[in-house]
Amino acid sequence: MEDHNFEHLLRSADLRVTRPRLAVLRAVRRQPHADTGSVLAAVRTEEPTVSHQAVYDVLGALTDSGLVRRIQPAGSVARYELRVGDNHHHAVCRSCGVVADVDCAVGVRPCLHASETNGFVIDEAEVTYWGMCPQCASAPDPSTVRSN
Ligand SMILES: [Zn+2]
Ligand SMILES: [Zn+2]
Repeated sequence: MEDHNFEHLLRSADLRVTRPRLAVLRAVRRQPHADTGSVLAAVRTEEPTVSHQAVYDVLGALTDSGLVRRIQPAGSVARYELRVGDNHHHAVCRSCGVVADVDCAVGVRPCLHASETNGFVIDEAEVTYWGMCPQCASAPDPSTVRSN
């Protein structure tokens, strides 16, 4: 997405276009599923004086307005991505924590039709697949490596 579109995106969400907001959107575009620390580091390469709190506030505003999706796998810090509105799932590596997008097996807005809703109006289903990423799965297990 071009910066021009980011400006349009912000305006369409009634958010003022600011340099920190644009920098955060660029950072999340470059690094999907980035955590707050990674976003802050990326933003500071463009805006060296921006504070942690400012980036935190921007992420909150972008998330509240639906421009950015916040995910938080169990045991992980919050992570952010620009891919919103499709309720896609995530695969998380148990070893290194890397996160990958997983499209649903059954189609659009997946898994929102719960078999039993107990009267709840369901608007989101969160599915996390846990396992090993390709790098970790192919790395030798240190516990089986002989020391001599
Ligand atoms: Zn891994
Ligand atoms: Zn994702």
